[in-house]
Amino acid sequence: MATYECEKCGMSVNATCGKCDAPLVNDTLTLDNGTEVQISRCPNDHGKIKSPMCCGQDMSCSIA
Ligand SMILES: [Zn+2]
Ligand SMILES: [Zn+2]
Repeated sequence: MATYECEKCGMSVNATCGKCDAPLVNDTLTLDNGTEVQISRCPNDHGKIKSPMCCGQDMSCSIA
């Protein structure tokens, strides 16, 4: 199970795909302006979401 955890307060969330229930995998997306955004995507290509944020920063993925 993929677990995102906040380094500051310790809050954690489990992120899974709503369609196939697979744990989301950590990935990065590079925007047109060169900014890298941390994202989570379904390993079965059902889509991707921005990584959860807490305390103003991206939560880190324990299986990254
Ligand atoms: Zn936090
Ligand atoms: Zn999926």
